[in-house]
Amino acid sequence: MSNSLLDIKGLKTYFYTDDGVIPAVDGVDIKINKGETVGIVGESGCGKSVTSLTAMQLTPGKVVEGSITFDGKDILSLSDKELREIRGNEMAMIFQEPMTSLNPLFTIGNQISEAIRIHLKYDKKKAKERAIAMLRKVEIPRPEEVVDDYPHQLSGGMRQRAMIAMAMACNPKLLIADEPTTALDVTIQAQILDLMRDLKETSNTAIMMITHDLGVVAEMCDRVIVMYAGKVVEQADVKTLFKDPKHPYTQGLLKSVPSIESMEKRLYSIKGNVPIPGSLKGGCPFAPRCDFAMDICREKEPILKDVKEEHLVSCFLYELDKEEAINHVTATR
Ligand code: SF4
Repeated sequence: MSNSLLDIKGLKTYFYTDDGVIPAVDGVDIKINKGETVGIVGESGCGKSVTSLTAMQLTPGKVVEGSITFDGKDILSLSDKELREIRGNEMAMIFQEPMTSLNPLFTIGNQISEAIRIHLKYDKKKAKERAIAMLRKVEIPRPEEVVDDYPHQLSGGMRQRAMIAMAMACNPKLLIADEPTTALDVTIQAQILDLMRDLKETSNTAIMMITHDLGVVAEMCDRVIVMYAGKVVEQADVKTLFKDPKHPYTQGLLKSVPSIESMEKRLYSIKGNVPIPGSLKGGCPFAPRCDFAMDICREKEPILKDVKEEHLVSCFLYELDKEEAINHVTATR
């Protein structure tokens, strides 16, 4: 039996605007196994969120190429009705700002119960009981009272917990978490991550964790996918990626993380900005920001290749022989 849950192959999601075509996701392969937590990292505008929204068929962009298979189903060929049956049931999503998915006009209980009634076919009373049980599970105090509260009556951290309760209410196979802790203060962040880890362990839910926070990745993920300019540039298990990052972009992201040692020095930041999608003129998309760029990098685009088992990188440095690469890197330092 296959262990694969989500299999995205060669995905291209483009936006057609008055100013031209924007290739937000440009040939991405992502695989998530059952029960696995995979971090998708990169700066804003690198295509992380559009990839996840495309997986749920919630993007206004157009899929121009590729395939998305979820638990054996071809997502791109499903009808709206079939997609509605999957969303909120087998595949659920939580966002950075809970108010984007909680409706201010309905009570928390109504919103959690709705998904339970639709997908699990519970009656009103049983659905409310399950909503209360879910609020208790995400450690909301006084769940019997909070179930009748409106979103504005809860704090940011409580709203995020309520959203997780809603997302997990039907035991989804995949939870897509888009910057779930970015808007929260540090102590609440840690509590929410603990909670997600516990829920994942008890329900074997796979998590696609979209974040720019490498601390979250180190704590939560089994595997990491680094995206840049709508493409995957590196992929490895979490330990390998932190210990032996290969792509100059990944190395830059890791160097930018503040640490106790870096407190006395100026914080490192990758020079330049993420390119505006559609503005690239061929070559490696990272070349304008890369300290190691070579002539070939401006002419050809590197492709994602294995540098070690299960460690993939798209960078010409790893196509040089070892001595050439060392000489080149030393000369550019
Ligand atoms: Fe830098 Fe060239 Fe590697 Fe791109 S391919 S990351 S420009 S060395």
